[in-house]
Amino acid sequence: MALLLATPGCEQPPEPLGDPGLVYVMALGPTPQATVRRAAWALQQTTRRAVVVLPPVDLPERARDAAGRYDAGMLLDTLLRNAPDDTFRIAGVTAAPLGDTEHDSVIGYARTGERALIYSTEALPNYSTEAARRRTVRRIVAHELGHTFGGGHCKADCVMRDTLNPHAIELMPDHPCPLHRRQANRGLALSIDDPDFIAEVAAERTRLGDFTQAVAAWRRAVTRRPDDARLWTALGIALMAKGELTAADEAFRTANRVAPEAPQPYYARAVLYAAGDEPARAEPFLEAAVERDGDALRAHRAAGILYQDVLEDEKRAVHHFEAHVRKGGRDPDVITRLTFLLSPTTLVFNEPETIVARWQPGRGLLIASLGGARRR
Ligand SMILES: [Zn+2]
Ligand SMILES: [Zn+2]
Repeated sequence: MALLLATPGCEQPPEPLGDPGLVYVMALGPTPQATVRRAAWALQQTTRRAVVVLPPVDLPERARDAAGRYDAGMLLDTLLRNAPDDTFRIAGVTAAPLGDTEHDSVIGYARTGERALIYSTEALPNYSTEAARRRTVRRIVAHELGHTFGGGHCKADCVMRDTLNPHAIELMPDHPCPLHRRQANRGLALSIDDPDFIAEVAAERTRLGDFTQAVAAWRRAVTRRPDDARLWTALGIALMAKGELTAADEAFRTANRVAPEAPQPYYARAVLYAAGDEPARAEPFLEAAVERDGDALRAHRAAGILYQDVLEDEKRAVHHFEAHVRKGGRDPDVITRLTFLLSPTTLVFNEPETIVARWQPGRGLLIASLGGARRR
């Protein structure tokens, strides 16, 4: 409280109402003790939670490229697979060089909305004082944590400013801009029992392909917030991915019941019936979804793709793609598909088709088809 009064204009995050969870730190590969201690200190400072040091793990050989750099994304997955149940965040620290899909070399890395972050000390300047070393690590940790709270890069005077140059970290501000402070405070205020937190864990597990854990997490979330149709829909999608189609149907029906006007459960049921063995049942649900969707362009796009790729009803696919264009949509995928459907061709694509349906915060249910369009 004294701190709060002493720093006007610097809002502290509200305390989490339930279990705040723990922050874990783990060294990947040979890492000096002092480096791990510094990481733990920076995490404690930035998360205001208890930090626990886990035993170190070896760097996974398959994450290493020919130049000896480690793929930061793969290392994040290693951390997440090692994360204990009560993990609020898990941070990896390594002395090995890191890269990602876009850059040869990165200092730190984190995925938006997921619980893991990592950084490397390999390219950091050799500061002469412990205070300077700590300040650098604190900035790196605050920046990567910012990504885990949903933040992107920032042009303002803000710790979320992008930098690939380790020497430029000295020029980075210690504090976030007001927007990124609000975002971080929102994230820090969540307990690990909060349905919003659990939903993030479930989405993370879904991305890792661990549908059993994803289903378990969505079930915990709907128990705590049974009137949230988004959570029921997401649970159904995870069940569908696991192959539990009857249970998925039940979850979607519950979503329909708690929010009759929400389009997502209707999309989800259309996908379930179309991809399952009842394609004839899909159509009315798909039309009901399009009717309810506030974003007509997205609705016609999704419906067209489903009709073309799964239900093999080209007439209806064309109808929805044309509606997308008529209403002002110019989605390149829609244009390509429409051109393809309207022009005679003898091309035959035989790739197996995979339908991916996932919930994206703020955008709703996304349906996409992997694999080429088919025409006989
Ligand atoms: Zn960044
Ligand atoms: Zn910012």
